[in-house]
Amino acid sequence: MTVWRTARQRGLASCHACGLLSRLPADGHGHCPRCDAMLHVRKPASLARAWALLLAAMILYIPANALPIMITGSIVGVQADTILSGVVYLWISGSWPLALLVFFASIMVPLLKMIALTLLLITTQRRSTWLPQQRLKLYRLVEFVGRWSMLDIYVVAILAALVQIQSLASINPGPGAVAFAAVVVLTMLSALSFDPRLIWDPLDDQPDVDRPGEPHVAKP
Ligand SMILES: [Zn+2]
Repeated sequence: MTVWRTARQRGLASCHACGLLSRLPADGHGHCPRCDAMLHVRKPASLARAWALLLAAMILYIPANALPIMITGSIVGVQADTILSGVVYLWISGSWPLALLVFFASIMVPLLKMIALTLLLITTQRRSTWLPQQRLKLYRLVEFVGRWSMLDIYVVAILAALVQIQSLASINPGPGAVAFAAVVVLTMLSALSFDPRLIWDPLDDQPDVDRPGEPHVAKP
């Protein structure tokens, strides 16, 4: 027996701009009566957009790691460093806390983020009812982590400032830095395109499934 019905099942949608709840026309598209913003039950083409941005990020992750992120020039010669060779250099020169920080922020975090998004997209696309609450927590974590993974760019900026003080050396960002920044931005946009409400839709469509939590009592 269905205990309650969701807004989607009732043909209602809340406005993304002003929050007003209104009844949608039969074709599922309309405009907000208060602010005239586009109304839709779920983000349009959410999964297709998220997949496209994620795949672009996965492809750019290769040059981000393979191409030099930092090019240093001095009287000794020109040296190009990738993220990993930078980590190795920091480790050898004794700044292992900084080496660990760059390794996790620039290599592990983007990789884990892409794996998490792949998992979310595959399970949602297959209309899986597997661990919805944990998947939602994973999505929130991915969204939260996004803004912290630009750390490597800051490290390059700080190193650049330090090296430029000695006037005999020059330091410039390499092509890997552009690819790396693109990976960070693309994974953030992919997470933003994903509509987390899609996780719950397969559960709402199955009336007899056990739903976690108290669905129709809002928390204060
Ligand atoms: Zn509105």
